[in-house]
Amino acid sequence: MSGVTVRNLVKRFGSTTAVAGVDLEMEAGKLFFLLGPSGCGKTTLLRMIAGFETPTSGSIQFGDRDVSGLPPEKRDAGMVFQGYALWPHLSVFENVAFGLRVRKTPDAELRQRVGDALDLVRMTGLGDRKPTQLSGGQQQRVALARALAFRPRVLLLDEPLSNLDARLRLEMRTEIRRIVDEAAITTIYVTHDQEEALSLADAMAVLRDGSVIQVGPPRTLYDRPSSRFTASFLGETTFLDGTIGAIDDAGVRIDTPAGPVIAADAGGRVTGDRVSVSIRPEAIRIVTDAFPAPAGWSRFEGTVGSSMFLGETAELDVRVAEARLRVLELHPRIDRPIGAAIAMAVDPADVVVLPAEG
Ligand code: ATP
Repeated sequence: MSGVTVRNLVKRFGSTTAVAGVDLEMEAGKLFFLLGPSGCGKTTLLRMIAGFETPTSGSIQFGDRDVSGLPPEKRDAGMVFQGYALWPHLSVFENVAFGLRVRKTPDAELRQRVGDALDLVRMTGLGDRKPTQLSGGQQQRVALARALAFRPRVLLLDEPLSNLDARLRLEMRTEIRRIVDEAAITTIYVTHDQEEALSLADAMAVLRDGSVIQVGPPRTLYDRPSSRFTASFLGETTFLDGTIGAIDDAGVRIDTPAGPVIAADAGGRVTGDRVSVSIRPEAIRIVTDAFPAPAGWSRFEGTVGSSMFLGETAELDVRVAEARLRVLELHPRIDRPIGAAIAMAVDPADVVVLPAEG
């Protein structure tokens, strides 16, 4: 088991810069996500780590071994692709055994390792089947077993769940977490699905245009994004542009088109700075005479612009002075018709002060 370190990695295809100088440290035995919109360079980055793509410049290390110049088969990385790429004419056993046969593994050891890999993905006893006789989830398990059978130091997953239906994706999420933990293997997982990343990652990097925008554990990236890009890529949010009016014992007051907003932390900015604040819909509480706003919270009064009842929640779009706030109401017990008055409050700890954009 070894961590993966990427230093100043660049990949250009003609005039396109797919990866624009990436530095990352991915910890040994952990599940690390590369997340970002289509075309941000995550697959290219993963393919360079696997050895399928040659970097224009920069280096890749597995543990303290520089693998930058090595072909894929010398890197000790197992890769699972979007479409699984199982050989249809080979049995499950032979699909899983493939890498071991290429490495000329002795027969007894090969049987042991294939058996262990199939046990790990809970496919014991299905070795004689052909891939066409398996469900999508089972095929995905075989692809994982094949990547794990030769006990690689690093496991690379490229959108491994994208071909599965919603229910199977959820099931396989839990499975991938279990497999990574049981195999104790450094895993790098590419996805554009923020829920997959938030629910599974030990740490993640958000990429845009070939560059890393922010790295950290999921909760930090979600709760404390450092840019509007990360805040809006991970979940829903409302941005309010404003100016820091005061910083004192009551907190940081930002004057916005929705009125004054109180934040706990100015994020290094000072009075007079132009900023953008980000407030998640689920952080906004609806307040009433019976459930008033706690002292020190921001308060907003507005009217409902639109509302969508979804059962356990309702999504509201609320007009507050010159602004609009997205609000997620939990356990909505009354209908909120368009134009209805509504009062809201936000804990200063849930207001994130970001650099103004544009
Ligand atoms: P997606 O989520 O759509 O798979 P991605 O984040 O994985 O996107 P990449 O596939 O790494 O993005 O592509 C990054 C950029 O590099 C894109 O602009 C893409 O068009 C370009 N690119 C990737 N591979 C090649 C190639 N072989 N030749 C030319 N350009 C390429």
